[in-house]
Amino acid sequence: MKIAILSRNPQLYSTRRLVEAAEKHGHEAHVIDHLRCNIEIEQKGPSLFYGSEYLEGFDAVIPRVGASVTFYGTAVVRQFEMMNVFSVNSSRGIVHSRDKLRCLQVLSKEGIGLPKTVFTNYSRNVEHVVESAGGAPVVLKLLEGTQGLGVVLAENQNAAQSVLEAFNGLKARVIVQEFIKEAGGADIRAFVVDGEVVGAMKRQGKEGEFRSNLHRGGTAMILELTEEEKMTAIKAADAVGLGVAGVDLLQSSRGPLVLEVNSSPGLEGIERATGVDIAGKIIAFIEKNVKR
Ligand code: ADP
Ligand code: MG
Repeated sequence: MKIAILSRNPQLYSTRRLVEAAEKHGHEAHVIDHLRCNIEIEQKGPSLFYGSEYLEGFDAVIPRVGASVTFYGTAVVRQFEMMNVFSVNSSRGIVHSRDKLRCLQVLSKEGIGLPKTVFTNYSRNVEHVVESAGGAPVVLKLLEGTQGLGVVLAENQNAAQSVLEAFNGLKARVIVQEFIKEAGGADIRAFVVDGEVVGAMKRQGKEGEFRSNLHRGGTAMILELTEEEKMTAIKAADAVGLGVAGVDLLQSSRGPLVLEVNSSPGLEGIERATGVDIAGKIIAFIEKNVKR
């Protein structure tokens, strides 16, 4: 098979591992920078022009679209879909996953556990907004933040209200969320491929940090999920419409709560923590879905 890996940087661990796994399975892998693709649309056939040639004969695409280029990246994925190329994640699923609010709305409809979350159109009644989210402490999050940036813990009502006012004043869109204290600065990353959890790790924030992101200095260890945690992760990936997803869960006193569903989850942390060949699982998912 001929597989396109949409990535801006061939040197990244995840990109390198996907190329390696594709080749190991006997396929041809091409790293394509989505920002350098021209999208051509006409009555007959949709096409993609790249560098000095048209992209042709691809069987599958693995999008690794960064959050800062979601608009153009998903337009390229959609073009591949129009060309009948199988994508491990649909353009629609990627768009859903990128907006924390939309993601939570989709999950809530499926009855998946979530921290209580409130979103308003820069409401001036910040006191009510904070109380609706359960009152301080609350977590405030920029709608399109990643890697723990743009996630703030407001420990008391005054702090919560002034931070919310500050974000509102900047016209920055934020959600206000119930703080799950019992998670203890840790969360779970469940890596889902094709409706199965292929690896899971627990991430613990560094001392005094409630955010467990590895980019914020968190550490990862392998973890065996409970049946309930597994089912929650699988349902969440399915609800958002992703074949490959990194589902972030908090362990709460009322069971697993989904924080977000990532459509380009990093492979490095999870492969190192679990020793599982996750890249190989993604290639196997393609093999199952693409009939030559
Ligand atoms: P990002 O997209 O920036 O990773 P997240 O919503 O995943 O944003 O939040 C980052 C981290 O902050 C989470 O991995 C978790 O450790 C912590 N966190 C986020 N929301 C809550 C919450 N409501 N209660 C407790 N901890 C939280
Ligand atoms: Mg996260």
